[in-house]
Amino acid sequence: MSFFIDRPRGMQDLFPPSSLLFDRVSQVMRDCALFYGFSSVRTPVLEFTELFDRSVGDSSDIVQKEMYTFNDKSGRSLTLRPEFTAGVLRAVVGNYSSSAVFPLKFMYCGPCYRYEKPQVGRFREFYQFGLEIFGGDSFLADLEIILVARDIFRNLMIDDFNLEINCIGCSSCKKGYLDSIRSFFEEKRDDLCDTCKNRLNMNPMRILDCKNESCKKLFSDAPRTVDFICESCKKDFEDLKRSLEIVGMPYVVNTSIVRGLDYYTKLVFEFIVNVDGVDLTICGGGRYDNLSSSLGGPQMSATGLAIGMERILKILQDKNVGHKVLGDDKRDVFICYLDDSSRDFSVELSYKLHSFGLTSDYDIVGRGLKSQLKYADKMNYNFVIVIGSEELQKRKIKLKKMSDGSLKEFDFDSIDETFADYIKNN
Ligand code: ATP
Ligand code: MG
Repeated sequence: MSFFIDRPRGMQDLFPPSSLLFDRVSQVMRDCALFYGFSSVRTPVLEFTELFDRSVGDSSDIVQKEMYTFNDKSGRSLTLRPEFTAGVLRAVVGNYSSSAVFPLKFMYCGPCYRYEKPQVGRFREFYQFGLEIFGGDSFLADLEIILVARDIFRNLMIDDFNLEINCIGCSSCKKGYLDSIRSFFEEKRDDLCDTCKNRLNMNPMRILDCKNESCKKLFSDAPRTVDFICESCKKDFEDLKRSLEIVGMPYVVNTSIVRGLDYYTKLVFEFIVNVDGVDLTICGGGRYDNLSSSLGGPQMSATGLAIGMERILKILQDKNVGHKVLGDDKRDVFICYLDDSSRDFSVELSYKLHSFGLTSDYDIVGRGLKSQLKYADKMNYNFVIVIGSEELQKRKIKLKKMSDGSLKEFDFDSIDETFADYIKNN
């Protein structure tokens, strides 16, 4: 083949075992969140561009340069979601009335799109698993999402994460801070990169998110949000820190975390894992109490987080624990047949095995017995059954264990729960 269509840059095709690991990881995440009473929400991949301009913020990297935006056939500007929070909030405001029972606790998992430079842990299509709590005013909602994330990472055998937290203040304390940081960086304007010069006009706080080494050097004595926060923000932050200590969840306060999206208020946090000397942020989140009202919705407190699935998969693969998380991927029974009448029976039998919760399959490409057995071995089946005219006549089947070749005979008519238990336990 001289030419075949390639996939777009920064996007991935996943096959087994990576695709199986992906499924398993998202299942672990879902199960952890279910324990805390979250239920899933699904929103469109496409939203009106305006939603992200007004929520993520037009000074953010996402809106400035990373969005996949296009006009549809009727000329409306649509964008592939670069993140979930704005869309989930839009959906909640549109679908729930004030008589809804709060807090609403949602989880989601799906693809996001950002036009970024592809590199390790950074793709143009990537999956986020996330949580959002609406109508939970207190630090307890923040604590809860942090604990779900902790449980997720522990259940995925990722123990070496660091939780970094910061308080960036509510809208009233943010104002004093913004004035201070603007004049701080104004004096250093000439040393800032061009993007940060622009940030200085639009949202100076965003400078602290710059990854450029020359800008980073200027951060060390920049004003800190924690020195500007009001009494109420301070109390919430102290309450959260105290409860993290009570539940034995280590954290560090990192005053330079401001997060890349405009909508955050009060608490912001990240979970970080060091991979080969490089810090990889696997999860980011925080409180966004003003997002709903700033979009024209009701005042509604909210807090949430998002975990990058690809970064989790990378860590599991690098630590060589993917197979442990995946667990035993053995399949139960492959049915081999010798002729047309035993083939028809095999189809029936396979269906019956499925009804007892067993995985089973049979040949669909017309192979001979030897090849059928080879295929069963390659596909990781625990047992095979060979059906021929003799088996049909005697109404007996022999179950062969692939690992040691041992045989056990069963009556056709006694295929029931006991049979299924035998297979599951061997
Ligand atoms: P970063 O600083 O790494 O660019 P971010 O602040 O842009 O992250 P968020 O918007 O908070 O990231 O997204 C939450 C999580 O989604 C991140 O912590 C990360 O794990 C993951 N993530 C973000 N962008 C990408 C990407 N381009 N490819 C893969 N994962 C990503
Ligand atoms: Mg980013």
